[in-house]
Amino acid sequence: MTSVAVEVEIDVPDGVRVRGYERHQGAHVFEVEFDLPAHCRCPKCGHEAAANVRYKDNLLAIRDLDLLGQPSFWLYQPPMHQCPRCRQRTQIFTPFKRPHVTYTYRFEQWVLEQVVEASVEEVARRLSISAEMIEGILEHQLAAERRISPERVITSVGFDELSLKKRHKLYATLMSDLSDPDHPLILAVSKGRDRAATEACLAKLTSEQRSQVRSHRTDMSAVYPQVCQEWLPHSQLVVDRFHVAKQLGTIVDRVRKKHAVTS
Ligand SMILES: [Zn+2]
Repeated sequence: MTSVAVEVEIDVPDGVRVRGYERHQGAHVFEVEFDLPAHCRCPKCGHEAAANVRYKDNLLAIRDLDLLGQPSFWLYQPPMHQCPRCRQRTQIFTPFKRPHVTYTYRFEQWVLEQVVEASVEEVARRLSISAEMIEGILEHQLAAERRISPERVITSVGFDELSLKKRHKLYATLMSDLSDPDHPLILAVSKGRDRAATEACLAKLTSEQRSQVRSHRTDMSAVYPQVCQEWLPHSQLVVDRFHVAKQLGTIVDRVRKKHAVTS
């Protein structure tokens, strides 16, 4: 086999620069660097000083979006700030990911988009990541207080039930904006899968926004259709293929697992 060089343009968040690239076993590895703050505050003694940067010896690899159907990773040396007063070293905040996780914000967002349309297990398989990673992302969404811009025009919403059973028995309700079917966006996540959870999501929309919704797509089970009918005066229930497919996917998974055990 011969190889040729091609030029590919990729988007990177502001302040991030690519210094190197390498292919590694079916993955794309980008060596990145990023803008550092001029000042840092020491979390131990509270002293604020000009950034005194030291790089950790080990490299960190974090997952980013797929490129040409293959996963890509960012590789960098985590920068540390050493406090000139108490000598405490702390990791400098990275603008493209949350602390303590091994993926970028935009990867997280991408996972969330996919979870709207497929089960956690299916998304995990597709992206070659663990179900625990997806659950970690969802749990973070549960904890974060999401604000929906009152200016946002939403004509179609989706309600999905998710079970986060890998870590502990936890159910969540996901409300997404399906106005643009190619780009579903999660609007709200709340704990539980009952009326209260559904209403907690819908209450994040203004009454004007609720009256603009023309259709809602929901899981076939649960209380979602009923609550939507009450809260969304001009909306019709749409039975859509995604939810049916998801339901079928779950059944197929179950059958497959059963089969795997018995065979
Ligand atoms: Zn200090």
